[in-house]
Amino acid sequence: MEDKILGLHHITAIAGDAQRNYDFYTKVLGLRMVKKTVNFDDPQTYHFYFGDKEGTPGSILTFFPWQQVKKGKNGVGMATEIGYSVPRGSLDFWQKRFEKHGVEFGNIREQFREQYLPFRDPDGLNLKLIVPKDEDKREAWETDEVKSEVALKGFHSVTLTLYNVGPTASILSDIFKYELEEKVGEFYRYKTNAVENAAIIDIHEDPTAERGINAGGTNHHIAFRVKDEETQMRFREKIVQKGLQITEKIDRDYFFSLYFREPGGVLFEIATDNPGFTRDESLEELGSSLKLPDQYEQARDRIERLLPELKH
Ligand code: ZN
Repeated sequence: MEDKILGLHHITAIAGDAQRNYDFYTKVLGLRMVKKTVNFDDPQTYHFYFGDKEGTPGSILTFFPWQQVKKGKNGVGMATEIGYSVPRGSLDFWQKRFEKHGVEFGNIREQFREQYLPFRDPDGLNLKLIVPKDEDKREAWETDEVKSEVALKGFHSVTLTLYNVGPTASILSDIFKYELEEKVGEFYRYKTNAVENAAIIDIHEDPTAERGINAGGTNHHIAFRVKDEETQMRFREKIVQKGLQITEKIDRDYFFSLYFREPGGVLFEIATDNPGFTRDESLEELGSSLKLPDQYEQARDRIERLLPELKH
């Protein structure tokens, strides 16, 4: 059978204050922290993973919170907006909740015949809640204040801003097996039929925009999902054949990763389903204690002293 990318795996963004980031995603948005670890390349910085109950691929938003980070700028060559899927009828609840918590949000709008509510996180990251045309049957994580009838179910889509849709679209369609579903103005919707959810990449083609600056409040990379390492390595071969640079396979403890810069400038990752977040914690305990990769375990005391305190 032909290899297909299984939609989005995770998205990684840059934040400032760790506590503020944690509070916003777990308390205001009602996501579950499924893993609290460190940046494997910079262990004095946290790496937070927020998702559904299990941290299912397609639901995972991750952050590197750098306390003193400068504010970045959205622009060309970046993922510029993250879309979460929410149940029909929930947008009123979210408008009121955003109002109450001082969240910056816009009016409810419509694109591709779907209603959405745009908002920003405390670092200025662009997000939106989208009511999908087809019901999203994924089970959402619930909290006391955010019950399942309004809760975020995982990703709906992510928007890339590019000078020119062509070269990136060729990666999406020729290699990843996405198809152009619709074009409205300068927005192109690419979708894969390999999965039901987190299956959409929207491209905003904007030849006049400036390049983005990757710092606080912007996305660092988007990761696409594959079943296992064998499939991943077949995709690696296809990227190499396309003449692009791609990393070797990297062990991220909870998945295996490959990274490459697609021709439009966005950092793409290909990540595996295995081994998943229950590798080192039970499902009930996910996110409750600081997890370190083996190479840093002997330095745990020092790392814990250097990381900012985090109140759950
Ligand atoms: Zn990643």
